[in-house]
Amino acid sequence: MDRDIRNIVILTGAGISAESGLATFRGPDGLWEGHRVEDVCTPVALARNPALVHRFYDERRAKLGGVKPNPAHEALAALDAAWPGELLLVTQNVDDLHERAGAKRLIHMHGELRSALCAACGKAVSWTASLPPETACTGCGKSRLRPDIVFFGEMPYEMDAIDDAIRRADLFVSIGTSGAVYPAAGFVQTARHVGARTLELNLDPSAGSFYFDESRMGPASVLVPQLVRELLA
Ligand code: NAD
Ligand code: ZN
Repeated sequence: MDRDIRNIVILTGAGISAESGLATFRGPDGLWEGHRVEDVCTPVALARNPALVHRFYDERRAKLGGVKPNPAHEALAALDAAWPGELLLVTQNVDDLHERAGAKRLIHMHGELRSALCAACGKAVSWTASLPPETACTGCGKSRLRPDIVFFGEMPYEMDAIDDAIRRADLFVSIGTSGAVYPAAGFVQTARHVGARTLELNLDPSAGSFYFDESRMGPASVLVPQLVRELLA
C-alpha cells in the first residue's frame, strides 16, 4: 500500500464464502440455489408463500453446520485483531463465517441466517434450528417470527454507521461482490467522493469495476491473505 492508511472499510459479498462451499447469489443460471430471487427474497414472496420462503432459509441455515471459514475470512479476522486504526467489516452475507473466523468489528447489513426477527415487535433473537411459519416470538408472544434477512425493498441494517465509517475511510475494499445490489454497490462512490483509495478483489470484473482505483482478479482465498500481508507489513 503506497500511502498512509489509518481507517479502513471492507465490504464483502457472497464471493468470499464461495470457497467455503456456499453458493453465490446469482449462479451461472441466474438463480440462488435453484430459486428466482423474487420468489425467496422479497416481502411479497414471504406474504404469498411463507412455507416456501421459510423452508428456503431453513435449508441455507442448516447448510452452515457443514461449512467453515476459508483463508479469506481468517485473514480479515487477523487484520481486524491487529489493525490499530479504525476498521469496519461490512458484509452482505447472511452466513456467519466472518464471526466464526473471529472478526469483531462487523456489520451484517443484510441480516443473518442464524437470527429470527419478529415482524410484530421488531425483536431479533438468535436462531439455529429450523423456523416454521407461525413460530411465536419470545418477546411479544405473537406468531410472527420470520428469517432475519433484509429483503429487496427493505432497508439494510446500520446504514448510518456504515456511511459514517466510509466517510472517515482512507481505504475502501470490496471483496467478492457482483456490485449489482444497491445500496452496497454505491459505497465505492461515497468512498471515492471523500478521497479514499478504492480497491476491488473479485473473481471477475464486477458491474462497478470502473469505479475502483484498482481491481485485482482472482480467488478470495489467495487475494485477501495477500492484501492483509501488505497492510500489516
Ligand atoms: P453475488 O453472488 O451477486 O456476486 C458474487 C461475486 O463474487 C461475483 O462477482 C463472483 O464473480 C465473485 N466470486 C465468486 N467466487 C469468488 C471467489 N472464490 N473469490 C472472489 N470472488 C468470487 O453476491 P453479492 O454481490 O454478495 O450479492 C448479494 C446478495 O446475496 C447479498 O445480499 C447476500 O445476502 C446474498 N447471499 C449471501 C450468501 C452468503 O451469505 N454466503 C450467499 C448467496 C447470496
Ligand atoms: Zn415479538
